Amino acid sequence: MRRVLVKGAGVAGLTVAHELAARGASVTVAEIRSQIGGNASWLAGGMLAPWCERESAEEAVVTLGKVSADWWERTLPGLVTRAGTLVVAHARDAFELARFSARTRNCEPLDEKAIAALEPDLAGRFRQGLFFAGEAHLDPRRVLEALAGKLRAMGVVFLFEAGEVALSDFDQVIDCTGIARADDDLRGVRGEMLLLHTREVSLARPVRLLHPRHPIYV
Ligand SMILES: Cc1cc2nc3c(=O)[nH]c(=O)nc-3n(C[C@H](O)[C@H](O)[C@H](O)COP(=O)(O)OP(=O)(O)OC[C@H]3O[C@@H](n4cnc5c(N)ncnc54)[C@H](O)[C@@H]3O)c2cc1C
Repeated sequence: MRRVLVKGAGVAGLTVAHELAARGASVTVAEIRSQIGGNASWLAGGMLAPWCERESAEEAVVTLGKVSADWWERTLPGLVTRAGTLVVAHARDAFELARFSARTRNCEPLDEKAIAALEPDLAGRFRQGLFFAGEAHLDPRRVLEALAGKLRAMGVVFLFEAGEVALSDFDQVIDCTGIARADDDLRGVRGEMLLLHTREVSLARPVRLLHPRHPIYV
C-alpha cells in the first residue's frame, strides 16, 4: 500500500487526502496547527463560484471549479446548497453589470421583478442583476469538520502540532501548506470576513454587490 504524507489540513490537504485514501493509499495528514480551524479554508466564504471568479481568474478556475459542487455533493451529501449566485449593482453603477457579464459566462440578466422573486428581501432595491444558476455554496467550517471526520473513519491519520515528520516513512509527500508554500504559482489574496446575524434580512444564496471601489459579497 502506498504511504502518502499530506502536509497541511486546509481544504487542499483534506480533499487530496480523501481522493488518495479512497483509492487505497495509506494517508497521514500532518498539520502544524493544533486543530483543523484557523487557516484560510476556515475563514473562506464557501462560494463555489467558478463563473463569477472568471471575471479576474484564469480559465482553469472555471474548468476545475465547475465540477466542485458535484464533488462536494458526492463526498459529503447534503452539505452543498445549489441555489446559484445573484450579482447586483446600484442603478448608478449599472455599467459594472455590463462589464462583469462581458468578462464571465453562464449567467442570465434579471430585472427588478426577477430579483425580488429570487430574494424577496431585496425587493425594490435593485433594478438589474445577473443570475449564475450553476453556482453553489457551502459552510466551510462545517464541511472541513465533516471531511476530517470522514477521513478519520476511512483510516487517515492526523498529526497535529506536527514538527518534522520522518519523510523516509512515506513513499510520497504532497505539500498543501497554502500560503506558507507561496511561490510563483501561488499568490496570497487578502480578504476580510464579518459574521452578521440578523432576523430582518434573509438571503437564500450568495449575493455579490458590484461597486467601483467597494465590491462586497454576502
Ligand atoms: C476571507 C476569505 C474568503 C474566501 N472566500 C472564498 C470563497 O468564497 N470561495 C473560494 O473558493 N475560496 C475562497 N477563499 C480562498 C480559499 O479560502 C483558499 O483558496 C483556500 O482555503 C486555500 O486552501 P489551502 O488548503 O491551500 O490553504 P489553507 O487553508 O491555508 O491550509 C494550509 C494549511 O497548511 C498548514 N501548514 C502551513 N505550514 C505547514 C507545515 N510546515 N507543516 C504542516 N502544515 C502546515 C497551515 O496551518 C494550514 O492549516 C477565501 C479566502 C479568504 C481569506
